[in-house]
Amino acid sequence: MNPLSTYDFLIIGGGLFGAYSALYLAEKGYRSCILEKEAALFRKASIVNQARLHGGYHYPRSIATARMSDDHRERFTEDHKDFVNFEFEQYYAIEKYGSLTDAAQFERFCKYMNIRCERVMDHPLFDYSRLEALYLTTEYSFDPILIARHYVERLKTEPLIEVRMQQELLQAETEGDHWRVQVRDHSREETTEIQAPIVINATYAGSNAINRLFGGAEIELMHEISEMAFVAAPKIQHLGLTVMDGPFGSIMPYGKSGLLSVSSVAYTHHRVSYENLPNFPCQTPETGCRPGYLADCNPCIERPPSNYRKMLSQMGQYFSDEVEWQYFFSYFTIKSKLQASFIDDSRPTEISLLRENPHFYCIFAGKINSIYEIEKVV
Ligand SMILES: Cc1cc2nc3c(=O)[nH]c(=O)nc-3n(C[C@H](O)[C@H](O)[C@H](O)COP(=O)(O)OP(=O)(O)OC[C@H]3O[C@@H](n4cnc5c(N)ncnc54)[C@H](O)[C@@H]3O)c2cc1C
Repeated sequence: MNPLSTYDFLIIGGGLFGAYSALYLAEKGYRSCILEKEAALFRKASIVNQARLHGGYHYPRSIATARMSDDHRERFTEDHKDFVNFEFEQYYAIEKYGSLTDAAQFERFCKYMNIRCERVMDHPLFDYSRLEALYLTTEYSFDPILIARHYVERLKTEPLIEVRMQQELLQAETEGDHWRVQVRDHSREETTEIQAPIVINATYAGSNAINRLFGGAEIELMHEISEMAFVAAPKIQHLGLTVMDGPFGSIMPYGKSGLLSVSSVAYTHHRVSYENLPNFPCQTPETGCRPGYLADCNPCIERPPSNYRKMLSQMGQYFSDEVEWQYFFSYFTIKSKLQASFIDDSRPTEISLLRENPHFYCIFAGKINSIYEIEKVV
């Protein structure tokens, strides 16, 4: 007989959404268990991201996403103010060539959204040759590493939450009004069983593998192996720039780290999988990575070579010659998107009830500051 544990909620995935869900449920008096595949929490999208506390600017083609960013921004900022960088100037620019938006449309959009958008006609640190327009906006950056530490500490001191690492879910079946789940604990190489009336899948890129295991419908997803490059550039240390809207890029402070994160629509995404489960040619037996059981890309032997030079040369053309860069390192992870987002570049957070009695929910998160969506549903 395998050892059996019982909880009110079983949460699969130890990123920000799994962690927040468990803490929220603990506040309501519920006991939960977080099952994480890796040897530590917060190893994937919740730390490998651009750290933009979205103010809506990024989505001139999806008012819904822009509004959703706006919905939770104030609360997220207030709750995480110790981990937010408020001390930089955030610029948005419109590319002259090949942009899907233009200055007039962007200004109309910002006016409609009622968000700050001040045209800057001249700035010594920018090179305007490829810019139709440059705007000073108000948008902040959160610090993913500090946020991760904060949540890990909170989880440690919460007696109603148990966190288990290096877990692999083998089987899930219903037994009356609860789920019975068989799990391989790779930290001890033993198989255990967990019983809970409600299961929450918060595995992001791993969502569909878990949905399948629980007999839930799949979400139509696509996946990209993505690189965030980290640089120092003393002249623009207190400045961010995002060039809209197409195959351009962003550079901005990575929270309070003193580094700038750089991404590029053209070069950040190394490999793309259009299947519901992330299926990449680099998933060889040696990597231990499978479409249904994804490894961490950072220590992976098949991790793609960095595109940082291309990203920096693309972003460098928007800055004056006096701006110099020093590259430090890159983080990689799988970025997953709804296939429907291809049209308007939207990033909604979807929480779906995929099975009833017993309940099985899937949280597919589009934005960090939408953690509170879970409160509307569970
Ligand atoms: C490159 C990139 C840039 C981004 N930029 C921004 C941005 O600037 N601003 C913003 O708000 N959002 C951004 N996002 C989106 C944001 O990062 C995600 O929406 C958010 O981090 C998702 O959190 P999560 O907890 O759902 O997922 P994750 O942090 O990925 O956590 C999921 C966890 O589940 C675990 N897991 C997976 N499969 C299994 C399994 N089978 N069993 C057990 N555990 C499993 C994983 O190991 C991981 O720990 C970005 C995302 C990426 C990838």
